[in-house]
Amino acid sequence: MKARILLIEDSRSQAQEIKDVLEKMGYEVVWAEGGIPGLKMARREKPDIILLDVIMPDMDGYTVCRWLKLNEATRDIPIIMLTVKGELDSRIEGLEKGANDYLAKPFNERELEARIYAALRTKALQNELKEKNRELQELLQKVEFMAITDPLTGLYNRRRFYDALKKEFASTRRYNYPLSCMLIDIDHFKRINDRYGHIAGDEVLKEVAHILSSSTRETDILARFGGEEFILLLPHTTGENALKVAERMMKRIRGHTFKLGNFRISVTVSIGIASLSDLGEKDGEEDLIRYADAALYTAKEKGRNRIEVFSGISPGDIL
Ligand code: GH3
Ligand code: MG
Ligand code: MG
Ligand code: MG
Repeated sequence: MKARILLIEDSRSQAQEIKDVLEKMGYEVVWAEGGIPGLKMARREKPDIILLDVIMPDMDGYTVCRWLKLNEATRDIPIIMLTVKGELDSRIEGLEKGANDYLAKPFNERELEARIYAALRTKALQNELKEKNRELQELLQKVEFMAITDPLTGLYNRRRFYDALKKEFASTRRYNYPLSCMLIDIDHFKRINDRYGHIAGDEVLKEVAHILSSSTRETDILARFGGEEFILLLPHTTGENALKVAERMMKRIRGHTFKLGNFRISVTVSIGIASLSDLGEKDGEEDLIRYADAALYTAKEKGRNRIEVFSGISPGDIL
């Protein structure tokens, strides 16, 4: 494809001369007869490069250059200023206004060609770099996403949960607001796998994850903690309120019909809850999980399909 050059030049005779030369070189040329039409054409024609005369009656080349560089749509188009005498001052001014290069009139054809070629090549390299950067950015985002996401359910993974927990725990200790943690474990999940197959099991996990996440608030942090176990951190939530959330979740899961091929099944979960107020002075964020796990253990012991709030006794204390 031919590169397109916008020539902004008030002198018709000079413009014709340059146009002829450029077309002979194989470029496509559009001509604007002054600074103001030049600005308009730069936006409309999206040229690959602009040759810009300095002295023009309606708007001088430096001003045109400044506007082109200020405008998002034209900012990246390389500009070669056509200076009259090739005076050092005017060259410098052009470059200061953002021109990429300058060419002193009268110029010889080979120099013109070389400068256009150089500007286009720089532009192409810049575009390539931009594209590479964009790709890299995308890749980074993907990698970041993968590093914190459970691929099956799309929920946060355990690692991401611990990061969030650490942060929440620190600020909760500092500002002393309530914080609760909930462990949710599917009851007899192994049987589902055994009866309906692992793929059906995966389907159940996905649906349970979906029900859970649609029952949480924006600020809650839900993650897949292990195989068929989910964890939910509820900032600014007392144990009492966490219990209400748990009841709602439990009901929704219990009431849901899971369609596995031709089978229709229902599923129950057991939930253990612990809150910051259960923790001792020296307890850390890991203990919050430990206590929620103790409560979950009790829920399982008491027959599953139920919620238990940490009571201050861990299984370790009993055994
Ligand atoms: P309980 O009521 O005591 O929790 O019994 P359970 O069967 O749910 O618990 P158990 O820990 O004995 O079994 C969990 C099962 O979850 C075993 C494992 O094969 C299954 N599992 C773990 N991760 C996945 C997974 O990603 N997909 C599927 N389909 N199954 C999984
Ligand atoms: Mg002029
Ligand atoms: Mg289970
Ligand atoms: Mg389990």
